[in-house]
Amino acid sequence: MTPSKAKVKTHLAKIAEVIDTHKTAPQAALISKLNPIIRGWSNYYSTVVSKETFSKVDHLAYDKLRAWARTRGKGNINKDKYWRTVGDRNWCFSTENGIELTRHSDTPIVRHIKVKGVASPFDRNWTYWSKRRGEYPETPNRVASLIKRQKGICPHCGLYFTSTDIVEVDHIKPTSLGGKDTYDNLQLLHRHCHDTKTATDGSTRSKGSVKT
Ligand SMILES: [Zn+2]
Repeated sequence: MTPSKAKVKTHLAKIAEVIDTHKTAPQAALISKLNPIIRGWSNYYSTVVSKETFSKVDHLAYDKLRAWARTRGKGNINKDKYWRTVGDRNWCFSTENGIELTRHSDTPIVRHIKVKGVASPFDRNWTYWSKRRGEYPETPNRVASLIKRQKGICPHCGLYFTSTDIVEVDHIKPTSLGGKDTYDNLQLLHRHCHDTKTATDGSTRSKGSVKT
């Protein structure tokens, strides 16, 4: 999806064509024709493009605008007529009424980390999830280790965990009966399975707190 050289070229050709057909049109008309083209293209590529590409395209578009101005000015680009300082930016292609050309680099670049559609934190693709885990602060290491050890299965009901299940860490031998808080005494259960187990394993559960 990264814009190839060819896509950049096609886009610039479109900009050039609009500029070409507005040789004698008012600057405002040219700007209002170009802005949606620039915005649309920039938004489309905003998740994959680099800042450098946007800047490069802006420069190339700017060259074409200079040529446009030079033609109208019979060799003089009339900088003060077509370009203004807006805020802290020099050389904004804009009218005196504040109609301003959008820059590609005005579009923020957004990075999405895509999760493969079928992978869930609880499936058996451990390598994938151990790589992802650092980006999932809500999946504590303890839970991730237990999922791996249990091969994604809840020992109480024997079913696989799914990404929407609520899971809890259980002490196999309840701490209230002397069970230790060590890995070999821990298991991951569905919350509802945990409730069932806790009701029958002789552990005491104080009201209002989740007993593991
Ligand atoms: Zn279960």
